[in-house]
Amino acid sequence: MGQAGPGGGEGSRSAWKVSSSPARPMAKAAVNCTPATQSTQALNPMRITAIDIHPFDIKMREPFRIATATMDRSPNVLVHLLTDEGPDGWGEASPLHSIVGETQGICIAAAKEIRPLLIGKDPLDVAERVREMDRFLPHNSTIKSAFDMALYDIAGKAAGLPVYRLLGGAKRPMETDLTIGLCKPKDAGAKAAAVLAKGFKIIKVKLGTGLKDDVARLTAIREAAPNARIRIDANQGWDRVTAVKALTAMEELEVEFCEQPLPAEDVEGLREVGGSVGIPVMADEALFTPASALRLVREDACPYFNVKLSKSGGIHNALKIASIAEAAGIKCMVGCMLESRLGLGAAVHFARAANCVEFYDLDMCFEHTEELVAGGISVKNGMISIPDEPGIGAAPTPEVLKALPRVD
Ligand SMILES: [Mg+2]
Repeated sequence: MGQAGPGGGEGSRSAWKVSSSPARPMAKAAVNCTPATQSTQALNPMRITAIDIHPFDIKMREPFRIATATMDRSPNVLVHLLTDEGPDGWGEASPLHSIVGETQGICIAAAKEIRPLLIGKDPLDVAERVREMDRFLPHNSTIKSAFDMALYDIAGKAAGLPVYRLLGGAKRPMETDLTIGLCKPKDAGAKAAAVLAKGFKIIKVKLGTGLKDDVARLTAIREAAPNARIRIDANQGWDRVTAVKALTAMEELEVEFCEQPLPAEDVEGLREVGGSVGIPVMADEALFTPASALRLVREDACPYFNVKLSKSGGIHNALKIASIAEAAGIKCMVGCMLESRLGLGAAVHFARAANCVEFYDLDMCFEHTEELVAGGISVKNGMISIPDEPGIGAAPTPEVLKALPRVD
C-alpha cells in the first residue's frame, strides 16, 4: 500500500473532487520503479495537510435500549483528513459509552489531541499511523477507528480501488440481522413481526434484564417468527447462574448464539457458561484489541467473536483480530454501534477481507430518522451492498456538509 500513488486510473481521479491539487511526479516514477525513483517516493510521501472534526448527531426513531444504556440519538463524530495530493478521507466514530468508555465529548477531545500527531505524516503508511495512535492513546478505540477509516479511505482513493479490494477481499453474500432493543415482553411479538415485514430473515434480540422477562420476551419473538434465525445479546446483563438458567431455558427456542452473557471481565465465566449450555456464546464487550483476542483464545473462552471497528480501533486492528480468530478456529460476526451508512460501509469493507466473518449485524442506521450520508451501506431484504467506488465510498451529502458544525 505504501507504493500506491495517484496513478490509479480514472476511478481514482474522479474520486478526488474535494481537491484540485495536481498529481505529483511520483505517478510516473511508480511506472518505472528504479532504485532512484523508490528513493524519491520515500523522500516525498503524500502528506496529511488538515483534519476537520465534526460532531455528527443523528436522531433515532425511538430510544434504543440495551442492558447497560439507552440511546435516543447517535452521538457520533466525523473526521475529515485532507492531503497535499488530492485524496481526502472520511471516518466516523460512534461511541457507545457504556461499552467503550467514550462519549461524543471525549471523542472530540481525543480527536483534537490526535490531530497534531497525524498532520504532516504519510496517510498511506496506515500501519505506522495506527501504531502511533495506539501508543499515544492506548484506549479510546472508537475515535481511533474514525481516523483509521479515513486513512483507508485515502489509500483506496489513491490506489483507485474500493478498500476491500485494496485489502485483498472480494464480494460475497452478506445477510444482516435487524435488532430488537429491550422492550416489554408483551410488545416483543409485534416487534418481531415488524422486522419480518421489512424483509429481514434474521432477528437479533437484546436481553439481559432478568430471567423471567428475558425468557418471556424471547418466547414471544419465536412464536411471532417461527422460521427466522434468532440470535440474542445479553450485553453483560446476567451473572453466571442466571446465564446458565436463561440459556438452558432458551435452548428449545433455537437460538444461533448468545453475545456477551456475562460482564466483560469474567472471561473464565464465559468459558464455564458456554460449556454448560447448548447455545454457543460469543465475546463482544470482552473483545477489543488483538491482545484481548489472544487472551480469549488462550482461555478457550468462546467459539465466536463479535468484531466491531469501534472496539478494535478500526480496520487495521480488526484484521489482526480476524487473523487470530481464523487461526484459532473462531467464527466472527461483524457488528456495529450506532454508525451511519459511512461507518457501517467501512465495516463491510473489513468483513469482505476477513474470511472468518460469517455473521453480520450491521443494522443501526435503520433506526435513524435522517439520511445524512451519500453512499455507504445499503440493505435489501437483509442483503448488504456497498458502492464499488475507490475508498470507503461514503461521505456526508453536500447539503449536510454545508451545515455540519466543525470543532476548532
Ligand atoms: Mg453485543
